[in-house]
Amino acid sequence: MNLCDEQAVLDAHYMARALELAAKGRFSTHPNPRVGCVIVCDGQVVGEGWHVRAGEPHAEVHALRAAGAKARGATAYVTLEPCSHHGRTPPCADALVDAGVARVVAAMQDPNPEVAGRGLQRLAQAGIATSSGVMEQQARALNQGFLKRMEHGLPFVRVKLAMSLDGRTAMASGESQWITGPAARSAVQRLRAQASVVLTGADTVLADNARLTVRAEELGLDAEQTALAMSRPPLRVLIDGRLRVPLDAPFFKAGPALVATCAAVEEQYANGPECLIVPGADGQVDLRRLLSELAGRGINEVLVEAGPRLAGAFAQQGLVDEYQIFVAGKFLGSSARPLLDWPLAQMSEAPQLKIIEMRAVGDDWRVIAIPLPAASV
Ligand SMILES: [Zn+2]
Repeated sequence: MNLCDEQAVLDAHYMARALELAAKGRFSTHPNPRVGCVIVCDGQVVGEGWHVRAGEPHAEVHALRAAGAKARGATAYVTLEPCSHHGRTPPCADALVDAGVARVVAAMQDPNPEVAGRGLQRLAQAGIATSSGVMEQQARALNQGFLKRMEHGLPFVRVKLAMSLDGRTAMASGESQWITGPAARSAVQRLRAQASVVLTGADTVLADNARLTVRAEELGLDAEQTALAMSRPPLRVLIDGRLRVPLDAPFFKAGPALVATCAAVEEQYANGPECLIVPGADGQVDLRRLLSELAGRGINEVLVEAGPRLAGAFAQQGLVDEYQIFVAGKFLGSSARPLLDWPLAQMSEAPQLKIIEMRAVGDDWRVIAIPLPAASV
C-alpha cells in the first residue's frame, strides 16, 4: 500500500467512528443534523464528541474539550462540514482554528445555505489542510431529513405500512390491530422516536383510537437513548379535512398535536389543538403544501402511519421518499383491505420501486423500498 492509500484507509476508519457517534443523536438533534467528531493525534484518538440537541454545543466543541491541548497539530474528523455562522452557538470552524488542529476531514459539505462550503474555506484560509467526501454516502443517509429540507424545502417522508403476506392490511370490517409481532412494533416505535413528525389521518384515529405516541418501554433502547428519545417526542399531525375527530378522542388527550384541515376552524376547536388550513383540490388537504409548511417549521423527517387512503394519496402524489413495509406471515384473504388505495388499470402504470433492504424482525419481515423516478421506469 502506498502512503496515499494508507491515509485513505485511516481516514475511513476514523470517519466510521465519527458516524457511529453522530448516530447517537438520532432521536434528539431535531431540527439540527446528527453530527459526530473524532480528533486524532499521532495515531491516537484524543477526543470524541457528538451533537446531542439543538442549542447545546456542536460535536466539534465536545471533541475539542475532550482533547484539550492534544488538539494542537491533530486531525479532526467531522461527519458534516464545520459551521461558519453564528447560530445559537459560536462557529465551530473558529474553534478548530483556535485549537490549532492541522487537518480537518469532513464527510460532506453542509447544504445549509448559511454554511455551504464557507466552513471549510475558513479553515483553509487559516492554513489548515481540509478535505471533504470521506464516507459521504453514509453521512448523507444519517441526515436524509435535514438534507431534503435544506436542498428541496421539504421534509423526508417515510411511509410505514404493515401487511399480510397477501398484501392486505385490515379485515373488511376495519379490524386491523396487531398484524405484526412485538419486535416489529418496537421497530415502529423507534421510527416514531426518530421522526420530527408522526402524521396520520382521521380514518386511522377514528377506527383504531390511535394515539401515535412514543412509548419508552417499547423502544428497546438503552437507558441513555430512551431518555433522549423521550425528551423530544415527535409532533403528532392529524390530517382531518372535515374536522371529524372529536376533541375528546384519545389522540388529542395524549399530548400536543397539529391538525391540518380544509374546513374553516369551528368554534369547538377554538381552545383545542393548533389548526393549519391547507385546502387542496376535491375538498382534500393539500399534502404538498402541508409538507412545505412543516419544512418551514424545521421539520426534517415525517413518518406517515395511515390507512390505505391517505398513504395512497401520498404515494400517488409522488411525495414518498421511502416505504418501510412490515410483512407478517398471515393471509387476510381477498375481502381484506389493500395496502394502498391506488387503482391502476394497466401494468405500464405500475410504479417501480427499488428494494434496498429486506430483513427479519422477530417473526415478521421488514422491506425498505424507495420509489424510482418515473423516467427510469
Ligand atoms: Zn458547529
